[in-house]
Amino acid sequence: MFSKDQIAGTLVNYYITCKREAWLYAHHIYPDQEDENMALGRVMAEIKEQNLQDFAFANLKFDKLSKERGHYLVTEYKKSLKNPEAGKMQLLFYLYVLKIGLKLKEVKGKLVSGKTVFLVDASEENLNMMKEILIDIEKLVNMPTAPKFEYKKICDNCAYRNYCM
Ligand code: SF4
Repeated sequence: MFSKDQIAGTLVNYYITCKREAWLYAHHIYPDQEDENMALGRVMAEIKEQNLQDFAFANLKFDKLSKERGHYLVTEYKKSLKNPEAGKMQLLFYLYVLKIGLKLKEVKGKLVSGKTVFLVDASEENLNMMKEILIDIEKLVNMPTAPKFEYKKICDNCAYRNYCM
């Protein structure tokens, strides 16, 4: 039985991108490691490790946590943002855990991809939305089988495409 406590940021990202991808990932079925996007992701991770403060606490693993005037700022870097919504929800998940789990008072998020920057707020509305998403993710990954494959444009660049197409 998979519980909400086991949810990590990557799973939230996959859930927003594709429910089938989220299910496969949660069931330890990992994508093709030779896939170009995966290889690039690994290179980015190595660069991050050298230059950024990698914060790891339980299921939190974002790129940077800094203390600004009056609030904490979580920064997440992405090599590309094909699905900005997924990146924003991944960041919101971190804010949710910091605010609800660790009880930090003021937390904000910044998502950076090249010159593109999105700010994400831990507003009450956003936190409630994340609460609902986490309930849905728990339900999804506890399903005995993955949701059926349905082709969408993102499938062409998905590292899981060999499982689906
Ligand atoms: S190939 Fe398409 S359906 Fe399969 S996991 Fe990737 S995005 Fe989802």
